[in-house]
Amino acid sequence: MATHKILLLPGDGIGPEVSDEVSAIIDWMNNAEIMDGATFEVEKYLVGGAAYDAHKVAISEDAMKLALNADAVLFGAVGGPKWDDVPYDARPEAGLLRLRKDLSLFANLRPAICYPALADSSSLRREVVEGLDILIVRELTGGVYFGEPKEIVDLENGQKRAIDTQVYDTYEIERIAEVAFDLARTRQNKVCSMEKRNVMKSGLLWNEVVTAIHRQKFSDVELSHMLADAGGMQLVRWPKQFDVIVTDNLFGDMLSDVAAMLTGSLGMLPSASLGAPDKETGKRKAMYEPVHGSAPDIAGQGAANPIAMIASFAMALRYSFGMVELATCVEKAIATVLDQGIRTGDIMSEGMTKVGTNGMGAAILAEIQKDYDK
Ligand code: NAD
Repeated sequence: MATHKILLLPGDGIGPEVSDEVSAIIDWMNNAEIMDGATFEVEKYLVGGAAYDAHKVAISEDAMKLALNADAVLFGAVGGPKWDDVPYDARPEAGLLRLRKDLSLFANLRPAICYPALADSSSLRREVVEGLDILIVRELTGGVYFGEPKEIVDLENGQKRAIDTQVYDTYEIERIAEVAFDLARTRQNKVCSMEKRNVMKSGLLWNEVVTAIHRQKFSDVELSHMLADAGGMQLVRWPKQFDVIVTDNLFGDMLSDVAAMLTGSLGMLPSASLGAPDKETGKRKAMYEPVHGSAPDIAGQGAANPIAMIASFAMALRYSFGMVELATCVEKAIATVLDQGIRTGDIMSEGMTKVGTNGMGAAILAEIQKDYDK
């Protein structure tokens, strides 16, 4: 019988509030005997400002050890004005960065799904976004954010020179392309690779390597290439033309935020970050987290939208535990609750029923239960 080890790191602000709703779903799943004998074993630890208050670090060594051994890490959110003045190395975000680095999470997955019930909260017209379901796969550990040299040099003539280095090795492009192609096979089987090969050497290599991996291992997947600036335009012109988009760290940072805004609120957006498959087990290290932060402005009020966190857990079911049916059930439950007109404050509109964090979590859990009672 499989035991899936989850490390839950709720963090600060609304992090613990939205995490509680996922804990309730996990507890129900563990007791409902719907997983062919499999169970989730959850360990909960502090991270971010909460960890600083308790241990003067952003994440403890004990938590890091558990993270390295977990099948999946579920991360809430960190930060807040209370910790603005803590030492740089112990600032709340340092916990998140350490996890990404030590788990070598090189692939960031950001789905942009537009639920029909929320199509009117997008800045684009309903017909452009309704039913949208795209996935941006962003390279997360290389490129211009990490390349050396990275410095500001004093030219001693009254001028300074700022240098960032965009650098990619073949293996870094190969492994992110493989993630994108693998995922496309579970979706609409289409990958669009975006770079700037017209002006960047790294773009030329990116294009060459993605094309070669496609030819060698994934010729059943439809591959297209687009310049990243044109890709940004196409994302707001007709986003439904895409299935999976694979791109580097810098372009992925921007394009995933553009795609996010197609779907409405920050409280709706999940994400996953994956590492390389383990040589023996084939399992990837993985962390799942909502895109939003700790929202100090609404923390402690029970008003946060837990959907991004619950949808992040659904991604864990799909990508770390291979429980595709259960993942789909959770995602369907979210859509149904939205269809019923249940809304947290951030997605509230006229005529809808306003609930708090717990009200939304309970409504989604009730729909999941209904699906399994059938
Ligand atoms: P934020 O995402 O926390 O909040 C932005 C706005 O969106 C706020 O008005 C907030 O109330 C609202 N919002 C966010 N999530 C929501 C939800 N689930 N339901 C309802 N409303 C929601 O971003 P910010 O205000 O720029 O940052 C606040 C703190 O969070 C800062 O300390 C920042 O460093 C940190 N942060 C952490 C992460 C992370 O942990 N991954 C990411 C972004 C920001």
